[in-house]
Amino acid sequence: MSDVFVGLGSNLGDRTAHLRYALRALHGLPGTRLAAVSRLHETAPAGGPPQPPYLNAVARLESCLRPVQLLARLQRLEWRRGRVRRERDGPRTLDLDLLLYDAARCSDAYLTLPHPRLEQRRFVLEPLCELAPVLVLHSGRTVRESLRALPA
Ligand code: ADP
Ligand code: MG
Repeated sequence: MSDVFVGLGSNLGDRTAHLRYALRALHGLPGTRLAAVSRLHETAPAGGPPQPPYLNAVARLESCLRPVQLLARLQRLEWRRGRVRRERDGPRTLDLDLLLYDAARCSDAYLTLPHPRLEQRRFVLEPLCELAPVLVLHSGRTVRESLRALPA
C-alpha cells in the first residue's frame, strides 16, 4: 500500500458535483481506499486566461496502483467529466493532479513526482496542510513551513 496525495480542482459547471464525483470514483479505483479529504477551498485562478474561481481540495489515498497506472486513471476521470484541453492553465470541469506518491521521485514527459509546482501553489498547500502539516516536502520543508514561506 502506498500513501498518495491527489489535488482536485474545478472551475466550470457544478464544481461541487465534479469534486464529489471524483472523490467517489477515487474510492472505487481497484486496490485503492480514500483515507482522508480536506475541506473544499474557493480560490482565485492562478495564471491563464480570465476565468471563474476554482474549488480545490486534496485527498489522501492508500493504493496498490503504481504511479503511472494511477495518473492514467485520474486522466480517465477528468475525461469522463467532460474535460477538454484547450489552452494552458485554461478553465476545466475537473483537474486531478498526482501530488505525492510515497517518497517517489521521477521526471519524464508523462509524469513528474512530486508534482513540480506543488510547493509554489497556495491552493495546493492549504488543503494539503489540513491533512499533513508536518509532511516533509522535496525542499526539506514541511507543508506548514512551505505555506508560511509563500508570498502573501
Ligand atoms: P495542470 O494540472 O498543470 O494545469 P494538466 O492537467 O493539463 O495541467 O496536465 C498537463 C500534463 O501534466 C499531463 O499531460 C500529465 O501527463 C502531466 N503531468 C506530469 N506530472 C504530473 C503529475 N504529477 N500529476 C498530473 N499530471 C502530471
Ligand atoms: Mg492537471
